[in-house]
Amino acid sequence: MKLNNLPSEFQEALPILKKIREAGYEAYFVGGSVRDALLNRPIHDVDIATSAYPEETKTIFARTIDIGIEHGTVLVLEDSGEYEITTFRTEDVYVDYRRPSSVSFVRSLEEDLKRRDFTVNAFALNDEGNVIDKFDGLADLKAKLLRAVGNPAERFNEDALRIMRGFRFAASLDFNIEANTFAAMASHAPLLEKISVERSFIEFDKLLLAPFWRKGITAMLASQAQKYLPHLEEAHGNLQGLLDHLAEDYHFKSSEQAWAALLLSLDITDSRAFLRSWKTSTQFQKDVETIVTIYRARLQSSLDKKQVYRYGKDLIEQAEDLRIGFGLPVDIERIERLDEALTIHDKHEIVVNGSILIKEMAYKPGPDLGRTLKQVEDAIVLGELANDKAAILEWIREASK
Ligand code: ATP
Ligand code: MG
Repeated sequence: MKLNNLPSEFQEALPILKKIREAGYEAYFVGGSVRDALLNRPIHDVDIATSAYPEETKTIFARTIDIGIEHGTVLVLEDSGEYEITTFRTEDVYVDYRRPSSVSFVRSLEEDLKRRDFTVNAFALNDEGNVIDKFDGLADLKAKLLRAVGNPAERFNEDALRIMRGFRFAASLDFNIEANTFAAMASHAPLLEKISVERSFIEFDKLLLAPFWRKGITAMLASQAQKYLPHLEEAHGNLQGLLDHLAEDYHFKSSEQAWAALLLSLDITDSRAFLRSWKTSTQFQKDVETIVTIYRARLQSSLDKKQVYRYGKDLIEQAEDLRIGFGLPVDIERIERLDEALTIHDKHEIVVNGSILIKEMAYKPGPDLGRTLKQVEDAIVLGELANDKAAILEWIREASK
């Protein structure tokens, strides 16, 4: 099959393929970008695979960076952009279900395509626009089917992350999972416990943000794979709740919001411990927890000025948007009004700080100083005190009388 009218991302990278070919090697576009081009979807990263070994690739281009030379990846810097060029490779025995125990560079495109996860991710495209389709991926693309390359059981046994990727691609592409592939995903799901949580998080997070996230979650539930992911099973609620409680057409706007919805659906009491078990960053944990706190507070009443200040408009809006998903009325205008009325949005905007109080009011560092600063902050937030140095110092003098 020939792809006429190559997308501009490929057009721009064509000189790279030509240069490698002129040096006597093969080079192709591979992976998700070819799949997305065939589906008329926007392309993000253009990945290039070549028969040239990394050292050979480096002699072809003037400017290169070794970004993953042990995996065979060299970054080529050209005026038109930066391109990741990876040597054809096979991945040998997977000892710990996480990563191949060794990577071997090979000269054969077919060997490289064979180790890829799904048929629709195993296309190659040459510089003439010809699609190389060794595993009938074009038929699967047409039928909107996700099918493992080769023997599904072997493939999921080699790398269980492919199970998560399966749910994720079902969710992003709106594809069904071919029956044998699905059966192998389900039977190998216990291996998910062996792969790194960080890798599972990335795929699960992409799933939640995907347009057809319901499809991904439904497939996951059908396979029971959630049993082998951190704490998705032992809570009061369950993953099915996410499907049951959120509006059919609801889409998450951010990772923080999606994980907050997950916590709420699972009815998790210790948010921090749950998010920690997924090895997320502390900032992420804080923001998700705040969205959950706001959501729960809003079930009781509307927010006041102090809460708007403390939580910040951005996270409040994400919580309100989640209310839309859960079919509850929202308070956006009121929140905007309260936010606009705030004279400060962060304590660092206060014109007086600890060292000023130490210098000008003979305060000593310690809890007393901290308490005074907090009172000043509260008074400014409530509109009882202007954010003005003379006014603040006077207010402190009055209060300490
Ligand atoms: P996206 O559009 O989300 O980037 P993608 O298909 O490009 O999707 P990547 O994770 O960027 O996915 O991987 C690029 C390609 O590498 C895939 O299309 C697939 O061919 C191959 N690949 C990635 N991860 C695996 C894996 N765990 N097992 C087998 N092949 C994989
Ligand atoms: Mg990609």
